[in-house]
Amino acid sequence: MGIKHDDIFEQQQNDNELELTKMNEISPYFKVVETESRGRGCFATKRISKDTLVLKCLRPLSSTVVKPFKKEVCQWCFHYDRGNNMKFKLSNSTKGNFSIFFCSQVCLDEFKKDDYQSIYLNNLIVIEKFFANLKQDNNQETEIKLTSKEDIDNAWKDVEIWESNLPLKESKRLNHLPEFDSDDNNDVYVELKYLSGILFQLYKSQILETDITFMNLELENFQLLQSNEYSKCLKYPYLLQKFIKIYKFVKILFPAEFQFLVNTKFIRSAIGKELGNAFGIWSKEEGSNEFQEYFGYSVYPSASFFNHSCSPNLKRERIGNTLIFKTITDIEKNQELCINYGYNLNGDLLKRQSSLKEWFFDCNCNRCEREKFGNGIIE
Ligand SMILES: [Zn+2]
Ligand SMILES: [Zn+2]
Repeated sequence: MGIKHDDIFEQQQNDNELELTKMNEISPYFKVVETESRGRGCFATKRISKDTLVLKCLRPLSSTVVKPFKKEVCQWCFHYDRGNNMKFKLSNSTKGNFSIFFCSQVCLDEFKKDDYQSIYLNNLIVIEKFFANLKQDNNQETEIKLTSKEDIDNAWKDVEIWESNLPLKESKRLNHLPEFDSDDNNDVYVELKYLSGILFQLYKSQILETDITFMNLELENFQLLQSNEYSKCLKYPYLLQKFIKIYKFVKILFPAEFQFLVNTKFIRSAIGKELGNAFGIWSKEEGSNEFQEYFGYSVYPSASFFNHSCSPNLKRERIGNTLIFKTITDIEKNQELCINYGYNLNGDLLKRQSSLKEWFFDCNCNRCEREKFGNGIIE
């Protein structure tokens, strides 16, 4: 998503052409183009009239609901019923009384149909169980200092050493789990559920020959997303400690079926791709005046190539777990298609720019450029 293209990203330039071909299977209305100043962007391949559906993402590659809403939001379609618990649930009798919640039998069945030998369900329940039993100790962590990418790489090298010293016996491996404190509870929990979904879909695409083409395309697009691990960790060093804990959890407690993908390189990139590419799941969608509750996030890789604009020409709408993008104005051929990344666009230039910094870029959309000029801000 609209990220300034600089040395943060390790793109393999020689794969560039192939990548662009794949990205151009996303929609008949636009192609993904590498721009000079705005990273990749989506540009209209023809004139598009107002109210045209230019992209429909049937369902996320992975999604995760925050802990406080795990019973109140449907695991499949994100339906929310004013705080009432969802009535349908799936559990695993051998793993105690932990469940995954759904709004209807239809959603529960869809989840089961997508699962394979209950591997995904069981993994989600392992996470539930672990975080339900977590002790609430306030084990203060020492704040680490990170000044360069190298510091981050070195921390991960230590993790590889930790990994090479892990005992083979499962019961003994448990002793090597890092300590999780109450502070980790939410962030680590949501991130683990997100990773579980990603690993599960990748695993499934490897073992099942006939699978939904839609998911395969999303997996291919997922590989093409850019990771924001370095920039985010340099800004918030405590995140690196969390990511390392997450990795250790995945290594020790995620199922054997996923382990062929569990190495520091892959997990770092999977986490880094979520940062800045995920779409928040909100109780009410864009433009609504009602108070919005944050339920969690989902990743729809094919929708991650839109840049942000403070005067967007696309509108995003969530219908259940389907995400659609519609034009809100007529668009000329070769014009860029942009969305709002989710900020209040009524704010003035400085307010907008500072909130957009969270997405790792200085907005240089047409509106910001115009207002910069008007305000006499010269860069
Ligand atoms: Zn549902
Ligand atoms: Zn802007």
